[in-house]
Amino acid sequence: MVRITNKTHYRTDDLRRLFDAGLRAHADHTDYRIEVYYSRRSGACSGYAWYHSTRMKLGVPRTPAGAWALSPEERKPFDELPEHIVQDLAHTLIHELCHCLGMRHGEMKVKVAHETWWKGKRIRARATPKKVSAAEKREQNARRTLDQLDRRRDELKAELDRIRKRRVRWAKRVAYYDRKARNRNGGTEA
Ligand SMILES: [Zn+2]
Repeated sequence: MVRITNKTHYRTDDLRRLFDAGLRAHADHTDYRIEVYYSRRSGACSGYAWYHSTRMKLGVPRTPAGAWALSPEERKPFDELPEHIVQDLAHTLIHELCHCLGMRHGEMKVKVAHETWWKGKRIRARATPKKVSAAEKREQNARRTLDQLDRRRDELKAELDRIRKRRVRWAKRVAYYDRKARNRNGGTEA
């Protein structure tokens, strides 16, 4: 099974379905490690792989092409990758896979455009958490603060316990020296 480290806002299950299909189509197993990160270029994928390995990195764009020139509203991350970027990602996956299998660029002949395994596969954004009301936020804050204080109190209790135990040990040593000092001074005290 392909192991995915996903550093993007895209759904890992969506990425897995695409990668599994590509690996099943082009490799004899799916035991690959794939890290998914944001591609530096908006609107295009990038990749990196190690020769004769089962390891690669795939860059997926966070925003549409030329996002820097867009209004803040248009600059927002993809809710879902458009089909041409899913195809680009499929292409990049197979390109990097070929490197993993030891191929150099001149030896690569795959054209994913003519293949079907990636078609209809969706790469969607993770669901955004539902809007939390101000009252819910205050309640969550109160619960979280109480939890933090309880944890801090328990830590301090444990620390106090440790200090008490150490103090008992060291007090015994000091008592020993006190007795010795008294004996030296003639043992006048009872
Ligand atoms: Zn390459």
